[in-house]
Amino acid sequence: MKYIGAHVSASGGVEQAPVNADSIGANAFALFTKNQRQWVAKPLTPESVEAFKVNCDKYGFGSRYILPHDSYLINLGHPDMEGLDKSRAAFLDEMQRCEQLGLKLLNFHPGSHLNKISIEDCLDKVADSINLALEKTEGVTAVIENTAGQGSNIGNQFIHLKHIIERVNDKSRVGVCLDTCHTYSAGYDIVGNYDEVFSEFDSTVGFNYLKAIHLNDTKKALGSRVDRHDSIGKGLLGLDFFRRFMQDKRFDNIPIVLETPDETLWESEIKLLRSFES
Ligand SMILES: [Zn+2]
Ligand SMILES: [Zn+2]
Repeated sequence: MKYIGAHVSASGGVEQAPVNADSIGANAFALFTKNQRQWVAKPLTPESVEAFKVNCDKYGFGSRYILPHDSYLINLGHPDMEGLDKSRAAFLDEMQRCEQLGLKLLNFHPGSHLNKISIEDCLDKVADSINLALEKTEGVTAVIENTAGQGSNIGNQFIHLKHIIERVNDKSRVGVCLDTCHTYSAGYDIVGNYDEVFSEFDSTVGFNYLKAIHLNDTKKALGSRVDRHDSIGKGLLGLDFFRRFMQDKRFDNIPIVLETPDETLWESEIKLLRSFES
């Protein structure tokens, strides 16, 4: 079975996210557990944590299908020690917020070399950062998202994901999230070579590490390395891709999250996707 939702708003408190997800007919969702554009946030209050859990139960969202996303400011592969330390502290805080909320996954973009260090050195720093956070937390899996490779972002090639995973000590608490927009703009032709791309993913990383999907159409061309999401069926991936995806059992039982630009369409996008799931 497919678990589909969107990255919903948590304004007014994290406890609003399951309410918002239910209102669009979702059975999975993503959220920020703090303001994604600030380094430091107030701790979650016990009341907010309790209300979040109550609402998740009430609307039937299991913790395996909830995919929190960390702050965009965090760079776990930062070339400078000061930036790296700041990022690692903020990431640990994000992991601890997930622990408090009873959540099992934390999704993040691996990092950027900022043209100061090699891709390999940057990937090594990301792996070290993950190890540090896993040592200080329990029960939360670090979910590395593949990127479009825009600017100096790493994580656009499957071998980057493999490189990081190989260096993580606790393999039971590391995984990946594939973003379909990023995959295509990074140069993997999931439209023309669907089978080849996903078998390459399987042989390089392994479907056993796939913990989540960001399901987005894309405005930008194959290999453009530009990250511009589009609504389902309106971009270059097209409805045939989404139909095939929805019938592919390898994507069952993990959160599938829309990060499509027009949130007024989320409810109908979810309905459309479900109609493909014969
Ligand atoms: Zn994404
Ligand atoms: Zn993106």
